[in-house]
Amino acid sequence: MNLVIIKGGLFDGKDYFEKGAVVVDEDGGTILEAGAENEVDLPPNSRILGGSGYTIIPGLIDAHVHFFGSRAFDLMSWVTVPESLAVLRSVPQLTSLLKSGFTAARDMGSKGGSFLSAAIREGAIKGPTLLSCARSLGQTGGDDDPTTLPLHIAQELSYSYFGDGPWELRKAVRKVVRDGADFVKVYAATGSTVGSVESKDFRIRPQLTVEELKAIVDEAHKVGIKVAAHAIGEESMGNVIEAGVDSIEHGMALTSEMAAQIKKKGIFYVPTLAIFVTNPTFASMIDDPSAKDSVFVRRHVNSDMKIAKEYELDVVSGTDFGGTDEQPHGKNYLELVAIAKSMGNKEALVSATSRAARCLGLTNAGQLKKGFDADVVVVKGNPVRDIEALAPANIVTVFKKGKQFSDD
Ligand SMILES: [Zn+2]
Repeated sequence: MNLVIIKGGLFDGKDYFEKGAVVVDEDGGTILEAGAENEVDLPPNSRILGGSGYTIIPGLIDAHVHFFGSRAFDLMSWVTVPESLAVLRSVPQLTSLLKSGFTAARDMGSKGGSFLSAAIREGAIKGPTLLSCARSLGQTGGDDDPTTLPLHIAQELSYSYFGDGPWELRKAVRKVVRDGADFVKVYAATGSTVGSVESKDFRIRPQLTVEELKAIVDEAHKVGIKVAAHAIGEESMGNVIEAGVDSIEHGMALTSEMAAQIKKKGIFYVPTLAIFVTNPTFASMIDDPSAKDSVFVRRHVNSDMKIAKEYELDVVSGTDFGGTDEQPHGKNYLELVAIAKSMGNKEALVSATSRAARCLGLTNAGQLKKGFDADVVVVKGNPVRDIEALAPANIVTVFKKGKQFSDD
């Protein structure tokens, strides 16, 4: 049995120990022991990593990514990029994501997501454990439908299935399950594409009815998979809460009343702050309080997050990065930096480890705990004190299921 002992400050997914140790079984892919160093049995003849100046954390999880395989932040290019090119461009992006300390991610819709997920599972390519929704779901003329194209062409090319009415949407769920979906992603509001956010008149419209959303949730839960809903604005959030989805994505324009319901129903809240911080258009809205169009984005990073904190929502780290030039995979730690601003460093780490694992339904990941998958990251510095320590340059080594990442 090849064993590795890793020493250093230890954040186990919930708690922090100044001096900790983790024993990794490289062959079995699991954690044999983890905790305060004086309570861990350190087997002799083991390889030793880390030490003082290093921190050990569980592999990070990004709960909201896309592998669009497009260099531009633009709906039309996400839709029109050939599937094979999208997949090929995504392969190095997946490697970067793993190398930067992310051992699991949830693909919220892209043409090749389910294929990438399968290739990683088979060991054909390197990347984090990737849960895929196969195709996302939306309504005809909805947020992800490029309406300048004839409908049949848009549907043919899209990374989404469009459906209207409970039965079409039940069928759409059955189709993504057939395609290998690990969960369902549904667009329940406008407002994801940059065009709509940039417009002078950024009106948020709910999409799909409660009846349609309930059909989706029922069909997904019947086969034991969760539903993640893109929801923005009070009406859309109200609809998805009533329908019983498992996570709210973006969740812009949160109110106290909504937060109380989200908490009561145990729904995860994935605010996807990094996309706003890194996109120059969105970022200028945050920084310029006089900008007319800024209200939504500025409100999201400030008051929405304050409400989320006050109501102790289950905030989960998800960047909404799509592998474009401005949001390349590998800089996904920026979501933790953004969450830390309102919730603190430790809470940001929880949101990307133990809680994110619960959100994704990964029962053996997100914690440094005996018997769990050996998804372990060694960081130079201490992200509990300085969240910027998670920048890629400080990631010393990454184990995924006991296998140490290498560039070979
Ligand atoms: Zn997204």
